[in-house]
Amino acid sequence: MEPDAWKVPQHILVILAHPDDPEFFCGATLARWSRAGHRITYQLLTCGDKGFNESTSAEMTPDVLCAIRQEEQLAAAKIIGVDAVHFMDCHDGYLVPDLDLRRDIVRVIRKFKPDILVTCDPQTLFTLFGINHPDHRAAGQATMDAVFPAAGNAVFFPELLIEGHEPHMPKEVWCSLSMQPNVTLDITETWPIKLEALLQHKTQIGDIEKFKERMKSRRTEDSTDENPRYEEKFRVVKYS
Ligand SMILES: [Zn+2]
Repeated sequence: MEPDAWKVPQHILVILAHPDDPEFFCGATLARWSRAGHRITYQLLTCGDKGFNESTSAEMTPDVLCAIRQEEQLAAAKIIGVDAVHFMDCHDGYLVPDLDLRRDIVRVIRKFKPDILVTCDPQTLFTLFGINHPDHRAAGQATMDAVFPAAGNAVFFPELLIEGHEPHMPKEVWCSLSMQPNVTLDITETWPIKLEALLQHKTQIGDIEKFKERMKSRRTEDSTDENPRYEEKFRVVKYS
């Protein structure tokens, strides 16, 4: 049985650092889940206001980019089939997995009470493309530390109880971007939806044709031109 063959609709909360992280890391899986009837909420910790690159115009400012990237994320999430997108106001590039961020994420987990939590593996220092962004590592670390041992335990951050946020523990944590995956999903069917969603992040992808070519190279080794296959991998931890 597939590891995501849940018997009833699940509420899935995705906590990651930047607009475009959900689609890049696991967009095809999220598209598959929304189409299977699961409810998905994004909680992004920053608005990606430092996502400047070679195609950014000289007049661009972090504030303007922040607003644009929020719009891009909403458009991408709509294509994936996400129910709600929320942004925390942490500064892009400066995320630190400290107790304040942990408390903020515990609050989010207790507020949304997800069945399934998706984040990224904080141990991934190197990716195929170089050094993993420190915000990705910080977001993964703070989220994992929030899940365990704090989110489900009332004695952690008692001020959250006073705010009315009762303890809550997700049943499963799915870590994308892991170099030690224990779950591999064949998501060939929803790969085109991921691509379409990624194309909404116009400020980040540069030349569209080159981008599409780059994404094509993500296919599995056993792919052929007639039958390309795509996978997304996760480190999954189950608590029930
Ligand atoms: Zn990112």
